[in-house]
Amino acid sequence: MFVYGFAQGNKDMRDLLGGKGANLAEMTNLGLPVPPGFTITTEACRTYLETGREPAGLHEEVGRHLANVEAVRGRRLGDPADPLLVSVRSGAKFSMPGMMDTVLNIGLTDRSVRGLAEQAGDERFAWDSYRRLLQMYGRTVLGIDGPHFDDALDALKRDRGAAHDVDLDAGALRELVLTYKGIVRAESGRDFPQDPREQLDAAIRAVFDSWNAPRAITYRRQERISADLGTAVNVVAMVFGNLGSDSGTGVAFTRDPASGARGVYGDYLANAQGEDVVAGIRNTVPLTELAQLDKVSYDELLDIMATLEGHYRDLCDIEFTIERGRLWMLQTRVGKRTAAAAFRIATQLVDEGLITEDEALARVDGHQLAQLMFPRFDDRAARRAVAHGMNASPGAAVGRAVFDTATAVEWNATGEQVILVRRETNPDDLDGMIAARGILTSRGGKTSHAAVVARGMGKTCVCGVETLDIDVARGRFTAPGGVEVAEGDVISIDGTTGDVFLGEVPVVDSPVVRYFEGELDPGAAQADELVRSVHRLMAVADSRRRLGVRANADLPEDAARARAMGAAGIGLCRTEHMFLGDRRHYVEALILAENDAERTAALAELLPLQRADFEGLLAAMDGLPVTVRLLDPPLHEFLPDLTDLSVRVALAKERGEQAPRDEKLLRAVRRLHEQNPMMGLRGVRLGLVVPGLYALQVRAVAEAAAARERAGGDPRVEVMIPLVSTVQELELSREEAERTIAGVRDRTGFTRPIPVGTMVELPRAALTAGAIARTADFFSFGTNDLTQTTWGFSRDDVEAAFFAAYLERGVFGVSPFESLDVAGVGRLVELAVREGRAARPDLKLGVCGEHGGDPDSVHFFHDAGLDYVSCSAFRVPVARLEAGRAAV
Ligand code: PEP
Ligand code: MG
Repeated sequence: MFVYGFAQGNKDMRDLLGGKGANLAEMTNLGLPVPPGFTITTEACRTYLETGREPAGLHEEVGRHLANVEAVRGRRLGDPADPLLVSVRSGAKFSMPGMMDTVLNIGLTDRSVRGLAEQAGDERFAWDSYRRLLQMYGRTVLGIDGPHFDDALDALKRDRGAAHDVDLDAGALRELVLTYKGIVRAESGRDFPQDPREQLDAAIRAVFDSWNAPRAITYRRQERISADLGTAVNVVAMVFGNLGSDSGTGVAFTRDPASGARGVYGDYLANAQGEDVVAGIRNTVPLTELAQLDKVSYDELLDIMATLEGHYRDLCDIEFTIERGRLWMLQTRVGKRTAAAAFRIATQLVDEGLITEDEALARVDGHQLAQLMFPRFDDRAARRAVAHGMNASPGAAVGRAVFDTATAVEWNATGEQVILVRRETNPDDLDGMIAARGILTSRGGKTSHAAVVARGMGKTCVCGVETLDIDVARGRFTAPGGVEVAEGDVISIDGTTGDVFLGEVPVVDSPVVRYFEGELDPGAAQADELVRSVHRLMAVADSRRRLGVRANADLPEDAARARAMGAAGIGLCRTEHMFLGDRRHYVEALILAENDAERTAALAELLPLQRADFEGLLAAMDGLPVTVRLLDPPLHEFLPDLTDLSVRVALAKERGEQAPRDEKLLRAVRRLHEQNPMMGLRGVRLGLVVPGLYALQVRAVAEAAAARERAGGDPRVEVMIPLVSTVQELELSREEAERTIAGVRDRTGFTRPIPVGTMVELPRAALTAGAIARTADFFSFGTNDLTQTTWGFSRDDVEAAFFAAYLERGVFGVSPFESLDVAGVGRLVELAVREGRAARPDLKLGVCGEHGGDPDSVHFFHDAGLDYVSCSAFRVPVARLEAGRAAV
């Protein structure tokens, strides 16, 4: 079965019917006024895309369902006397706003246009509908460039002295139809088909094909939507919002999608057809004004909105049309919303008894929380906005104004931050929107293309700033008071308030961050509903999660911050920073040491410094585990650059000066130089070949713990060996560590355990995890290096070198350094977990690569059975939330 009538489906059939089709079916079955229609399944689309042909039997199935629609409406498709017209709309499982094609008014022909005119009693309307069909069919089905049609329309308007489309009368539109038919003939080599069924079949195929339109492909990559889902196609009896002032079309939300506040939100446009609202071509009025225009329809709409919210138990967005005073529902779905609204709505729905706390947790995610932690503009920076528009997608964006997608992409590639300024956006602007920090438009409401897409991407957007006069061709806009902004000028836009500023406005931390850092009490009067919602949902997440969350931190201040953010310890203290700055000098001395005495002296100078570092860290994390990783990077990182040093030595020589230390250093730098330092003398290898280095660090760790205990503290330190690939490396370094710790115990009487574990960050370590586990008290997956070595990608170079091309060509949808590659690196993690635990059931398991703070990866680590994730302090709340979500 490839076709479902609306009464045959339901909202849970999105895989097969797409989101739009499933929800049209649901509304039909709820008894809401949905025009009759049917949905062609995604399976039919997939078959078509695979074979290049419609699946067998589809033609007949469409015919049968069309006959049903004809029977309900009492009209035949394209009947010359009284035609049924249908729309053909795409509708994939996941919403892809404006990315795929739609053709309206199918069924109009040279003959039926007259029948429509007669039935509607409106000749202008009929010809207007016909020219729209020609235009959409020409572009979508026949692939004729849009400007052919646009130019013809503009020429006609000039000729007739018409400012707007609506100023063209029936005669003018009839003439336009002739012109359009000429364009179709000239560009496609064929006449526009006069057989309504032929129109319908071609439109269905065009919608199937639009799944693979370049902009749809880009959008899917950006949104991580699988490329092989295909789209469903909805064929729906047309209803008309452009039949006069008692008709119209609109979009509505059951709550404010920006703030979550309850109420009636939406835009309405009288005497207009479908896409006019979303395209933002004409400015809409707020939905509440419909109450004055048509009270009966308005009340009915409110009733339906309440029904839908109660039924879906969530914010819904709706598209509707009023045809001569009769309300029709054209679409509904669980509405997209801003991050702040997601948190507010989830807690509101709990309070209203519509959903449980666990369901509320599922309604928000870590990406949204991360967004809420972005900085905002400083309220106190008393700047005057030069203009004000719709607060379409929150956040604060500062950048140089650019007026077209190509420039946005080009400037962004050179590291410039840009704001894309357009009169309105359309799907062709997608790349520019991705490249921009923020989007500013002068037309369209909160449901315009710019607003919907920006919210989906989490990008700041201000739209509908009507007071801006934007001249895209000249690359400039003017704001009230004659202020002019040219391409390249810095502007700031506030997507939370809708304000537009000239120049760079200073930004401040978000209240959510202030809350996490303990500066804002959620019970205090100045805490807003958002902070309270975040607080409540974090409490739910914390009570549900099984994964512990630690932080990667090297300094006491960072550790304290991480602790405030909810970190239950440090999962990775990288000790390398403790060797930088003015301590380089000691490292140099260590490297240059020519005998044991010199080496011991250099190490002895480092010891008290390291000990003090660890004491500070243990104090900040008192009572919580602190995993100290012994030195990891290649030693040359602590020495001067080879070229700089060579120049220095050469210059000294030229001047006839003596520079014995520099010369010695230069010899050492040359000796330590490696072609592939990341695969060279680093990690445990350093520990094994640089005598005394790891022992020094272990001693500093143990002595710091002993000192903390003496001072009444509760130190819980762990020693971690990096870059192990074979158990022998770990055995050797562990033996030395234990000897050193025993020495400290003898001297200080310290008795607490100091677990010794290893990072698993090389494929060989993962593959031999069973053997390694016998010598390790814990594993911490270093997924940065594990990704680097599993893929063979240099983590320091790939982003600049070729990831853009890989992302663009769909090799992967997201960098494997950002979100864990479950299919590859993930299998190594699973294997190491399984074999490690089999060898040692009490083995503690964590992850400390960047992935520990990535929402999707956290779910994987939960499923893989790790004990904790460790991530940067700022990501700790995100990991806590996602760990809770993974557990419900
Ligand atoms: C890792 O490799 O994942 C890791 C945490 O170590 P680093 O990033 O310091 O190499
Ligand atoms: Mg590493």
